[in-house]
Amino acid sequence: MRKIYLDHAATTPVHPQVFSEMRLVLEECFGNPSSLHSFGRKAKEYLEQARKRVASLINALPEEIIFTSGGTESNNLAILGTVYANRRKGNHIITSAIEHHSVLHTCKFLGTSGFEVTFLPVDGNGLVDPDDVRKAIKRETILITIIHGNNEIGTIQPIEEVSLIAKEYEVPFHTDAVASVGHVPVDVDKLGVDLLSLSGHKIYGPKGVGALYVRRGTNFTPIFHGGGQERGLRPGTENLPGIVGFGKAAEIARRELASERVRLEGLRDKLIQGVQRLVPDVKLNGHPVRRLPNNANFSFAGVEGESLLLRLDLLGIAVSKGSACSSGELASSHVLLAIGVDPELAQGTLRMTVGRTNTDEDIDYVLDVLPGVVAELRRMSPLIE
Ligand SMILES: *Cc1c(COP(=O)(O)O)cnc(C)c1O
Repeated sequence: MRKIYLDHAATTPVHPQVFSEMRLVLEECFGNPSSLHSFGRKAKEYLEQARKRVASLINALPEEIIFTSGGTESNNLAILGTVYANRRKGNHIITSAIEHHSVLHTCKFLGTSGFEVTFLPVDGNGLVDPDDVRKAIKRETILITIIHGNNEIGTIQPIEEVSLIAKEYEVPFHTDAVASVGHVPVDVDKLGVDLLSLSGHKIYGPKGVGALYVRRGTNFTPIFHGGGQERGLRPGTENLPGIVGFGKAAEIARRELASERVRLEGLRDKLIQGVQRLVPDVKLNGHPVRRLPNNANFSFAGVEGESLLLRLDLLGIAVSKGSACSSGELASSHVLLAIGVDPELAQGTLRMTVGRTNTDEDIDYVLDVLPGVVAELRRMSPLIE
């Protein structure tokens, strides 16, 4: 059976060139990068080459990159490392209502341990209003963290505008760019951020590796304690095969970004327009224009998202209900609720995210079968008369 993977926002397949570099390192380069002998020096060379490649993808300096175990750790490290370092200045954090769980839950945790957190609302398209950020800032504010490209609905936030405000009030500014890096240009200077999170497995690298960008001069403290690796900011023997794979993925992403972006936007728009043309009572979630090139997110009235997902899976099409991390949860996605989607309609939501593996024919096939599946589920549904 034809297999179509439309869940690239959950994870991506490892690029063949990434795999070959990782394999080479696993086979031939087992040294510890901290060792002084030739085995260690070779490993260190690979480590620093990967650091340069990741830095160059986001226009950072290599020494501003800290390797981590992934996007989740990068977000935890960014938030905790900044608030601990600035504890004496205040205890207030500003974030948005549509963050990834690794930011949302970290902020909620801090909210129960002596910090005060403002969760900014978003409009119907999922946008934060920079004016709301300005109004929320107070003397005690020690961190602003706002997601760049939303992993569920694809909305891209006005990070540049928020960063100007953060600078004006001298508040450290972090963005979770895990879903946007590799898809749209991410330049830490143009965005004006102090900290930025990225992850390997969302850009055709391996799972379990990511990075945190920390701008030179940013007040920051480690949250794990141990050896001096990663300039003492993230101790532990480095995951060299993973880091090398991530570095290669970053290099490829940088090289192919412009062309792949146009190609994916074409597939995404064909999918969005096709679904809107062929399926009645469907709502596109997220911003119509300020949107990740790979993201389509729909709510189908009178349909249960999980049933739709399972039907499509039987037909060889892999999609997601919302974010991968929240699947299996009964509650509606906090992102959909924040943009004002009715909880019942939110239950009928599907996210389809295109990527390297997809072609025009894949979208044709989806558009061929999806309208029939939706219609059938609606006929069976007790929700619709
Ligand atoms: C996937 C994702 C994360 C988590 O990254 P992991 O490497 O899977 O821990 C964080 N934020 C966003 C926006 C994501 O899409």
